[in-house]
Amino acid sequence: MIKKLQNYVGGKMTDSSTQRWGDVFNPALGAVASQVPMSTAGEVSSAVLVAKQAFEGWSATPPVRRARVMFELKSLIDRHVDELAALVTAEHGKVLDDARGSVTRGMEVVEFAAGIPQLLKGEYSEGVARGVDSWSFRQPLGVCAGVGPFNFPAMIPLWMAPIAIACGNTFIMKPSEKVPSLSLRLAELWTQAGLPPGVFNVVSGDKEVVDALIEHPDVAAISLVGSTPVAEDVYQRATRAGKRVQALGGAKNHMIVMPDADLSHTVDALMGAAYGSAGERCMAISVAVAVGPGTGDRLVDALIPRVKALKIGPGDQPGLDMGPLVTKQHLEKVSGYVDLGVKEGARLLVDGRGLKVPGSENGFFLGGCLFDHVTSSMKIYQEEIFGPVLAVVRVPTLDAAIQLVNAHRYGNGGAIFTSSGEAADEFTKRIQIGMVGVNVPIPVPMAFHSFGGWKGSLFGDHYMHGPEGVRFFTRLKTVTSRWPRGASVGASFAMPTVK
Ligand code: NAD
Repeated sequence: MIKKLQNYVGGKMTDSSTQRWGDVFNPALGAVASQVPMSTAGEVSSAVLVAKQAFEGWSATPPVRRARVMFELKSLIDRHVDELAALVTAEHGKVLDDARGSVTRGMEVVEFAAGIPQLLKGEYSEGVARGVDSWSFRQPLGVCAGVGPFNFPAMIPLWMAPIAIACGNTFIMKPSEKVPSLSLRLAELWTQAGLPPGVFNVVSGDKEVVDALIEHPDVAAISLVGSTPVAEDVYQRATRAGKRVQALGGAKNHMIVMPDADLSHTVDALMGAAYGSAGERCMAISVAVAVGPGTGDRLVDALIPRVKALKIGPGDQPGLDMGPLVTKQHLEKVSGYVDLGVKEGARLLVDGRGLKVPGSENGFFLGGCLFDHVTSSMKIYQEEIFGPVLAVVRVPTLDAAIQLVNAHRYGNGGAIFTSSGEAADEFTKRIQIGMVGVNVPIPVPMAFHSFGGWKGSLFGDHYMHGPEGVRFFTRLKTVTSRWPRGASVGASFAMPTVK
């Protein structure tokens, strides 16, 4: 009998009454591991009501008390890091070391959120006019919702909920239906950390749950991470419904390799950034831009043996570089892009299609793929593939490389590898992307900075976590106050100005 997963509402696991269930796979085995409820709009409504009722008490809880829950949650995540990483690997497929790292990066947002008394400190101006003081402070929004992608089952829900909750909001998480278990386990840890019932809830499902959250008048904000078409659509519909929205979308991240880059550092960095997590990272490098004559040849000569030697297998086995892709459907999509690249005339130097891992013959595995002589007119260059496929594009100059990146519809992250300060400076100043690395291949900002891309990689005005996260999950109130002394000076009908 396949295990049926539950939702988590009001501080406990609850059964779903839905008739629709989705399969959750173990991608290394290619077998169904559990079933997830495709919850109904009615179940979303019940969860919103519970979260709304919890808001009154939680928003009035002093920030220092809220911070204590964060300290406790941080320590629980720390103590359970191996268990949580195993859960990530079981449903997503990434190797355990990588999964552990992703849990730790999520935990760091909890650490940041534990500083909430400091982060919510307002501003005060004494004497803005005679006898008048003014101060500003930030208040929570109400019930907030998070919608997660499949590729970071722990880290991305932890980008959202800790900050929302530390700010005094209550929260409903809709994890990706491909990887729901992590959010459910985190819900138990939240409760164990002392969070009152109803403050953090998990409602699983698909578009129907997201639509119900968009349409519900008591949901104040939606924080979503997913593909660009979904991010853009949810942003448009939810903002029209009067909600605050941050919707992070897809990516195509470039690494500019200058002729003066240290080749061995560059190739090491490129291997991890392109093939780590089987390329299923929104910050993965999927395009290497070789600048100047000879750079492309040197780069691919060094890459070919490394890509062929990638150690691939079930993520829970030690010493591997890459696990499977998340689902059979995704494997077919990524393999389809490799077929397309060949048709488009790119040169396939390493072909990972058809990989069979002994003992895991039904797993969703794809070996590393490497294309050379990719051009900007090809679909494999323009579209996000989200798999272990690296494209090498050759350009004559840094200026051409910058123009190439800036013309792309996505603008999430990217990097330059060089030993020239001048080239790095030129790149960081002119490049139209949100997160930039200089000799750092995956420049994911730490929890106390904010994460987000430009152009088609982010819809909305606020980035995730860090100071931008606090701004997203709060709104500003400014008070102007006078305590009159002496007799009234009479009514004034002019716009007040300082005399
Ligand atoms: P997805 O867009 O298919 O799904 C994301 C979430 O939206 C899921 O919870 C899903 O159930 C829901 N959803 C799907 N279709 C919907 C619809 N029509 N209406 C409303 N909700 C819908 O994305 P995915 O395949 O789970 O994740 C991979 C994508 O996420 C990639 O494009 C990747 O680049 C992107 N991503 C971006 C970032 C970032 O920070 N920019 C981080 C991680 C992943």
